[in-house]
Amino acid sequence: MSIERFVRPNIQKLKPYSSARDEFEGNGEVFLDANESPYETDVNRYPDPYQRELKKEIAKIKGVNAQNIFLGNGSDEAIDLIFRIFCEPGKDNIIISDPTYGMYKVSADIHDIEVVKVPLSESFEFSAQENLDKVNDSTKVIFICSPNNPSGNDLSVDEIERVIKGFEGVVVIDEAYIDFSDQNSFSNKIDQFPNLIVLQTFSKAWGLAGLRLGLAYASEVIIGYFNKVKPPYNINQLTQKRALEALKNKAEVQANVTTILSEREKLRNELEQLPNVIEILPSDTNFLMVRFENAPEIFQYLLSLEVIIRDRSKALHCDKCLRITVGTPEENKKLIDNLKSYQQ
Ligand SMILES: *Cc1c(COP(=O)(O)O)cnc(C)c1O
Repeated sequence: MSIERFVRPNIQKLKPYSSARDEFEGNGEVFLDANESPYETDVNRYPDPYQRELKKEIAKIKGVNAQNIFLGNGSDEAIDLIFRIFCEPGKDNIIISDPTYGMYKVSADIHDIEVVKVPLSESFEFSAQENLDKVNDSTKVIFICSPNNPSGNDLSVDEIERVIKGFEGVVVIDEAYIDFSDQNSFSNKIDQFPNLIVLQTFSKAWGLAGLRLGLAYASEVIIGYFNKVKPPYNINQLTQKRALEALKNKAEVQANVTTILSEREKLRNELEQLPNVIEILPSDTNFLMVRFENAPEIFQYLLSLEVIIRDRSKALHCDKCLRITVGTPEENKKLIDNLKSYQQ
């Protein structure tokens, strides 16, 4: 059964914008086709709409075929396009976990798509059955974030796979934090599951949040729809260039991940010793969720010292929880020193 029957009929029929550079084959030497300025500024030409060079390098590093990659202006763009491709405004619904990354609901609200929330267990475990039980005829997409933000834990690979097999619509696995996790990416399962979309990002481990570059891996059919619906030049020339440079520094990125992981455990040990820390949740990410006896006061106290953390205490099962991103060793020390002086 083809995933295409979950694509909105208007999108199936859509005739995409054809850019100047789509309309010829072969090599060009003089480009008088796109009304660009002929004067060199480094960026006077439109960028490659399909980011071929960049995808080739990503394909090598990630072990995925270039035809199975979509690049977006952050994962946010990929999430937005998933709604545009599959969800009929005012009619369809999606299923998300609770708590999870806030962008799925915001994007759903923008597109007037109903959001069905399935609570994670108190220890933030994910149940395939509870997700599948909520599916109805209007359910187009199930979003799964693993490792999950804000809880920080890996969700069960077996449970996720049960959802991919048990639901005929689209299953999105958001792997923004996969570089900090021991688990394997689902990206090597896109050939096996035509309804699977895996999201990753350059914003976390790769250290390029300011570039805005997100990835989606999926079957060629789904990637074809992403390409059809996206703005023609969604990844600008400078981003493509900078990302290509960054891919050469894979070893450096890996070294930073290793440092962050060891800093995370150091931070955990230090925090555990503070009297008003109730609990620190398990983490497979670059952050720690910490339950404090007096979370609002701690948050305000750190803020007054210009140390900014994130209050996640309103999220389900996250009462009194503050989310702390692992920083450099110096930043982490400053955080701990400040928290220690709060005690006195
Ligand atoms: C940070 C994060 C992203 C990254 O989004 P970008 O738009 O690529 O910066 C995606 N998903 C989750 C769960 C995140 O926490």
